[in-house]
Amino acid sequence: MPQNTFEKRNPADTRDLIGAFPASNANDVQSAVDAARRALPAWRDLAGDARAAILFKAADLLLARKDEIAAALTREEGKSLPEATGETLRGVAILRYFAGEGLRPIGDVIPSLNPQTMLFTQRFPLGVVGLITPWNFPVAIPLWKAAPALIYGNTVILKPSEHAPLCAQMLTEVMHEAGLPAGVWNLVQGGRETGAALLEAAGLNGVSFTGSTATGKIVARAGVERGFKYQLEMGGKNPVVVLADANLEKAVELTVQGAMKSAGEKCTATSRVILEEPIADEFTRRLVERVKELKVGPGTDAQFYLGPLISGEAKSNVLRRVEEAQADGAKVLCGGALEEDGLAHGHYVSPFVLDEVRPDMTIAREEVFGPVLAILRAPDFDAAVALANDVAYGLSASVFTRSLDKALRFAREVEAGMVRVNGETAGVEPQAPFGGMKASSSYSREQGQAAREFYTQIKTISVDLAD
Ligand code: ADP
Repeated sequence: MPQNTFEKRNPADTRDLIGAFPASNANDVQSAVDAARRALPAWRDLAGDARAAILFKAADLLLARKDEIAAALTREEGKSLPEATGETLRGVAILRYFAGEGLRPIGDVIPSLNPQTMLFTQRFPLGVVGLITPWNFPVAIPLWKAAPALIYGNTVILKPSEHAPLCAQMLTEVMHEAGLPAGVWNLVQGGRETGAALLEAAGLNGVSFTGSTATGKIVARAGVERGFKYQLEMGGKNPVVVLADANLEKAVELTVQGAMKSAGEKCTATSRVILEEPIADEFTRRLVERVKELKVGPGTDAQFYLGPLISGEAKSNVLRRVEEAQADGAKVLCGGALEEDGLAHGHYVSPFVLDEVRPDMTIAREEVFGPVLAILRAPDFDAAVALANDVAYGLSASVFTRSLDKALRFAREVEAGMVRVNGETAGVEPQAPFGGMKASSSYSREQGQAAREFYTQIKTISVDLAD
């Protein structure tokens, strides 16, 4: 029986067919989980340095193929080639960081009330872990889930987004070439049905998910019903707060970068800018001037700041959300659909800035996932922080100020898992914890030392003398 396939096309030019990929069905998914289960004991019992050697080798192979993989990333996801290259190098850094974890201390010795007892904790792998990933970081996100999973002795099934099958295939080649034993890394391809089949498969111990809030809730429900551990990274409505004493030039540049790089298709993208009244008009003028300068076109050409959106559906969603905001009373200062020569076959929009946004409008509350920035105004610091916190999400937040006092107060008071002072909302270094508060996550963190909390389970062990 020939397997079902699905097509993937280039979002910059849909005439470019990237390929037809196998759509894994429930049987394929169960076989992958079974293979991961069979591979688990030997992988779990391998010494940490042996697991590390494979991850280091994978990092070297990824580095050697960086130009080819970055080109594939731009072709299937749309982001600019420098961003795609940066993401691939981040993948290399993630692999190396977690390879290093293979021989680091990973438990505690706890003082026992009995002097003859040795009381300690040891961490064991979670087991067989499903990784359900989105399309917007098709190299970095699979790796920042898989690298800790593997180094701590788990086996994995990667279910990438149906919008980014090629990068997942290339990563799989890299991992196999690096010497992972059969069954330790398994790839299943396809969309919602394949993901749903993974959640239904027998023998899963955990699922790490990054994607929309709606799907995250489905994963959580399945985890509760089927008894697997889950970790969710979902949406954001990330604010930048610009205070009256800020370096405006820097604040404008980094707000634009946070909002418009990768066409705003990041869960950490800046989607609200909250301006303290005294600088609001001046900031807005400079912001719009800068955003109007940004060029939009294929990610393969370095002159373009923004590439296409991922799909026609994503494009219509952005345009519809802006229309709804206008109907609610927001004023569009710049942005629109782009359909002129050379761009007609891609999913392009020019970046939007919306003024006169009120906090109760949908555009101020719900994630758009595109290059759309809403301006809100606040009379003072406290009002700005209250606005920043007045949404369901809490992923990342930035403040621009020269005041140490206000910077520290912001870091304490803002409801976000990642806070930056005088920096953009997107982009956390790979060795630091990544995750959100409130509706943005399931209260867990990825990356860095924090990743071990999800991918391991603790045993408390006490040893007493026999006689
Ligand atoms: P986005 O809208 O950003 O694509 P999704 O949450 O739809 O976000 O997708 C994130 C990942 O979740 C993708 O790999 C997608 O195929 C997968 N997915 C979507 N729906 C389901 C579902 N019902 N069950 C499991 N996985 C799903």
